[in-house]
Amino acid sequence: SLTIDNLVKSFGSVDVLKGINLEIEDGGFLVLVGPSGCGKSTLLNCIAGLEKITSGEIRIGDRNVEGLHPSKRDIAMVFQSYALYPNMTVRGNISFGMEIRGIDKVERDKAIQEVADMLQIGNLLDRKPSQLSGGQRQRVAMGRALVRHPQVFLFDEPLSNLDAKLRVDMRTEIKRLHNRMATTIVYVTHDQIEALTLATKIAVLEAGYLQQFGTPDEIYNDPANMFVADFMGSPS
Ligand code: ATP
Ligand code: MG
Repeated sequence: SLTIDNLVKSFGSVDVLKGINLEIEDGGFLVLVGPSGCGKSTLLNCIAGLEKITSGEIRIGDRNVEGLHPSKRDIAMVFQSYALYPNMTVRGNISFGMEIRGIDKVERDKAIQEVADMLQIGNLLDRKPSQLSGGQRQRVAMGRALVRHPQVFLFDEPLSNLDAKLRVDMRTEIKRLHNRMATTIVYVTHDQIEALTLATKIAVLEAGYLQQFGTPDEIYNDPANMFVADFMGSPS
């Protein structure tokens, strides 16, 4: 599980997250939504350990991650801009992190084959990123994260660079992966439909405050206030 207790994050004198409380059970799919600048990426970066929190607590399982280096947090993050290594093949991109961790070639090849099958990129393994479409690159970025078998997956608007058709395909893919791997996911999106179809829980942020935390049904059909109703396009 992932627990966030009274999380405050400030940049200088500006409070960007103003006391966030969230809990997501193992295997849960938490979607974060809210207007641009409300603090979604900052929250992910705090969970990942890429930003130091100002106060409060983040726990992964029963472990307080305070002071833990990102590489020790048992998380993997997929960004909007899926920064692949341009000079490596797809196979190299997926393999690299495992090589760093000293995993032997037999194990690596097995893991690569497994995610390649899952993401249907088996025929692309010898290509360079520049020879791939946006959607294929995003699959490779996901593959790279998947081979780490992290306890928690963080996605920051992973589909926002893709065209509408691919976005819908990838949404289905992510849902399938989540069901199959039973992993815990925190996922940021601007797309309300994406949020409602993927989430087991949705958190609606506004200007650093959590406006509502609930199931897609609760958020859509029983919004806590006008802001949530308006943002989610709930029927009035
Ligand atoms: P978007 O939907 O546009 O990606 P977001 O919800 O992800 O927005 P954040 O990137 O978390 O928003 O930013 C929240 C606020 O914190 C913004 O006002 C932003 O300007 C500010 N902010 C983010 N990073 C820093 C930083 N390193 N220093 C100062 N302010 C920052
Ligand atoms: Mg962001």
